[in-house]
Amino acid sequence: MTGRLSGKTALITGGTSGIGEATVELFVAEGCKVMIAGRNAEKGEAMAARLGESARFVTCDITQEAQIKAAIEATVEAFGRLDCLFSNAGGPTRGGPDTMEAEDYRYAMDLLLGSVLFGIRHAAPIMKAQGRGAIINNSSVAALRGHMGGYLYSIAKAGVKRATELAGMELGQYGITVNCISPGAIATPIFFGGSKASAGLDPAHADAKMAKLTRNLAKATPLHRSGLPHDIATAALFLASDEGAYINSHDLVVDGGMIAGGRTSFETTAAGANV
Ligand code: NAP
Repeated sequence: MTGRLSGKTALITGGTSGIGEATVELFVAEGCKVMIAGRNAEKGEAMAARLGESARFVTCDITQEAQIKAAIEATVEAFGRLDCLFSNAGGPTRGGPDTMEAEDYRYAMDLLLGSVLFGIRHAAPIMKAQGRGAIINNSSVAALRGHMGGYLYSIAKAGVKRATELAGMELGQYGITVNCISPGAIATPIFFGGSKASAGLDPAHADAKMAKLTRNLAKATPLHRSGLPHDIATAALFLASDEGAYINSHDLVVDGGMIAGGRTSFETTAAGANV
């Protein structure tokens, strides 16, 4: 089936790498017009040029509310409406219970939670006026169990889950659905310090690191394979499409069964990694 997003438009934050990049590709293939948001303008502009009329790029640092608002406005200006916001961008955080600094706290909350709250804040009025819209937030299994991400990372992602539930309850009456996805262990540059930190790796070295990561993550998953960005993109597609129209305030866990347990503990397989 193709064309599941025909006539729709979307803003995807963190569209320049990993999960966001795969979602941009899939949404465009399904007929969506997509605004790619990220900090890496070179990569984002190249993606938009390759995808043609269906995609544009806007520079956006999601720790800044004004830039989130501007990216939403740029989407409406470019494509006339905003049917879907995928607040996906994120990255590793620093600091533990006895080591965190005030700056670690502020950065983690701005990056992972504030970005979601302000995305909802500025997308909702537009979607309300349209009478429909789908907001999808990227949470994590780190919000749900164990010690699978950093301390502040897990706390912020737990906030994303509650923000999703509460915003969906308030905005549902206007035809807006708000859902989140909790990915398990998905092989992306986030395991190498995030897209920015890994951008400088030479391609052969980066490919070898990714292959090793994929083998290691498979050990933590009942499906015996690592999650891939496309696995999360298909979940986002479902929630953004008319097929997902009656799903609201929901956390869709996409982890190959990892949090149910059953295989080598993820904590020991990829210790210290943010998921
Ligand atoms: P990734 O490959 O490192 O991609 C992260 C994306 O976020 C990049 O496109 C990056 O864009 C963007 N980004 C980071 N900081 C930003 C900022 N301040 N402003 C704007 N954009 C920013 O990582 P990923 O694994 O795809 O992560 C995507 C989301 O999934 C994150 O929210 C992450 O927490 C979540 N997640 C990932 C996993 C996993 O196992 N991979 C598991 C659970 C949840 P630029 O480089 O252009 O700035």
